[in-house]
Amino acid sequence: MAEARHNGQGAGAPRILVVEDEEALSVLLSYNLEAEGYVAERVARGDEAELRLIEQPPDLVILDWMLPGLSGLEICRRMRAREATRTLPVIMLTARGEEGERVRGLSIGADDYVVKPFSLPELMARVRALLRRARPERVAATLAAGDLSLDRQAHRVRRGQRDIHLGPTEFRLLEFLMEKPGRVLSRGQLLDGVWGSAAEIDERTVDVHVGRLRKALSRGRESDPIRTVRGAGYAFDERFGK
Ligand code: CA
Repeated sequence: MAEARHNGQGAGAPRILVVEDEEALSVLLSYNLEAEGYVAERVARGDEAELRLIEQPPDLVILDWMLPGLSGLEICRRMRAREATRTLPVIMLTARGEEGERVRGLSIGADDYVVKPFSLPELMARVRALLRRARPERVAATLAAGDLSLDRQAHRVRRGQRDIHLGPTEFRLLEFLMEKPGRVLSRGQLLDGVWGSAAEIDERTVDVHVGRLRKALSRGRESDPIRTVRGAGYAFDERFGK
């Protein structure tokens, strides 16, 4: 079910709001989003975007930085201050030369950041990854299997009585694997889902982080919840704890 949704058709398709004042780019983005099966809406002014976000929040926002009416930065800040849009995924767009603002954008709550001109496949990969992370089933507070539990809100992982301290990447990796017990995920799928970008990171990075995750999860003779599938990737062992 989860997989069907981001390729969704019709009423179930995720709605994406494109806030961009460059007409040609806005049209190009919405055209490509529609081609991927999303419902795209376009607005060109910041104040118009703000109204749209209040009236009918979409599933994801692609937000240009420099806009007439209200800046992308201010829109993002206000979104984060409102309950209805606090966790709504935001990808900020900015022109070359404004990269220095990246940190500012991320610090006020943008989930991702793309510098123009960007590659469309790269942006689409980030859209997919963010939507996957923001899925409603992720809102379920805790994922559990056997003696292992992962609390998404508190960002806490426990095995039996013991707290397991994970870095942010290992945490997301475990969360991503636990969401799909038994399913074999390729390194590319893991990069896409956990890092949000398949293009820039070497696939061996996945092996390094899986190694760290395993080391943190299992002590002594404790069983390993992660299965390596040779030539294919990794899976959360569906028999773990059973
Ligand atoms: Ca602009």
